[in-house]
Amino acid sequence: MPEGDTVYRAARLLDTRLSGETLLHAELRVPQHATADLAGAVVAQTVPRGKHLLTRLERGDERWTLHTHLKMEGVWRVFDGGRRWSKPAHTARVVLRVPGREAVGFSLGVVDLLATADEQSVVGHLGPDLLGGDWDPDEARRRLLAVPERSVYEAILDQRNLAGIGNVYAAELLFLGGLHPATPVGAVTAVPRLLARAHQALEVNKDRRTRTTTGDTRSPLWVYGRSGAPCRRCHTRIEQAPRGPAGRERTSYWCPHCQPAPPRAASVTG
Ligand SMILES: [Zn+2]
Repeated sequence: MPEGDTVYRAARLLDTRLSGETLLHAELRVPQHATADLAGAVVAQTVPRGKHLLTRLERGDERWTLHTHLKMEGVWRVFDGGRRWSKPAHTARVVLRVPGREAVGFSLGVVDLLATADEQSVVGHLGPDLLGGDWDPDEARRRLLAVPERSVYEAILDQRNLAGIGNVYAAELLFLGGLHPATPVGAVTAVPRLLARAHQALEVNKDRRTRTTTGDTRSPLWVYGRSGAPCRRCHTRIEQAPRGPAGRERTSYWCPHCQPAPPRAASVTG
């Protein structure tokens, strides 16, 4: 599932393969931008912002930003010299052709084109970016604790608090912190430690092909996607909520022994 580290790698791929190149042809396969004419624009750069990708384009005095988001299934691929696409053509949402290669965004959750001057309208709400040069743990902590009764699981997934955490890291970080997902964030005493772990986890994984929080790429995750399997620490069966198909956007996983449910009193504040 795409999280901050995946998006970081996608941005780097697009940035290294497209920046400085002139678009020969571009297709945005979404109704509102289907007629956009971007041929002749130069790709200036692609930067990640949390889980958002901003590809900046220039033509004469015009400055646009192609804003894309991978959501659940999205992926960017670059194909050299007319190579066959590795995914079905009908799932392509963006095609950017430059001399010698083609970048294709498949199954993207968001495709939008806006004036670069208006970028804040799509990423201005984001909290501190875990993989941004300006990562600010104190500000992230302040935002997380602004609604203390909210569950720590929901709070760290909310991109307005901090940007870059998805479902996989949420589950893994709470396991590492010994925190049940329903724990009110205001009752978490080790928020700075949780944030430091989040930052470190994304940093070490941003250059890896296989995401791991255990340090072992053969059994890379502690709890995410392991419902019913034994906990790697205590052998208790991992639980999942809500029950149902794995991989949904809001499915949490935890070990009931390593991450005991918070006392009822702790969920009531004020
Ligand atoms: Zn356990």
